[in-house]
Amino acid sequence: MNEQHPRPVSAAASPITRLVEAFNRLPGIGPKSAQRLAYYILRASREEAQELADALLEVKVSVVLCERCQNLVTASPCNVCEDRSRDRSLICVVEEPLDVLAIERTGGYAGLFHVLHGVISPSDGVGPEDLKLQELLARIRDADPAVDEVIVATNPNLEGEATAMYLGRLLRPLGVRVTRLARGLPAGADLEYADEVTLGRALEYRQEVS
Ligand code: ZN
Repeated sequence: MNEQHPRPVSAAASPITRLVEAFNRLPGIGPKSAQRLAYYILRASREEAQELADALLEVKVSVVLCERCQNLVTASPCNVCEDRSRDRSLICVVEEPLDVLAIERTGGYAGLFHVLHGVISPSDGVGPEDLKLQELLARIRDADPAVDEVIVATNPNLEGEATAMYLGRLLRPLGVRVTRLARGLPAGADLEYADEVTLGRALEYRQEVS
């Protein structure tokens, strides 16, 4: 695997080279895959290429961060935050926007969300100040009605556990119960790939963070 830092795309390069280099800058795409993708686009119809180009620009223009839950959405505040039928005393804290979809798919959760955009990971140089924690604290302080419980639904790995413990210490002084998804999710697994039944059960049998 070539994990070297990708070079910036040069505007003077040939169109094919530019496209290969642009793909190569994407996470998880090495030089070989970048070439395959570029040749796929070359052979594709003009409509298919246009569709991809439009979709790329569309997300940059129309996706915003919800001012409350910090999820990536098309309007701020988002539909979930604005939904008055949801239980406002309950906030489920997740790592990434896709985790919100995973929890929603269980059909068993009717509270609000908060997206951290990462987890505490000293080995990757990610500290609490890099996450959307101040936004969470501000929400809890200003909440009316008050927030009773924060469910920490970070992934079941070292970083996820460390983040849950940190949140426990941070939020308990504010009079908020802090719980963690029950064990039972495969260790090291990603929340977004867990099946609905397993995730629903982990949510139902959540436990107090020690
Ligand atoms: Zn929101």
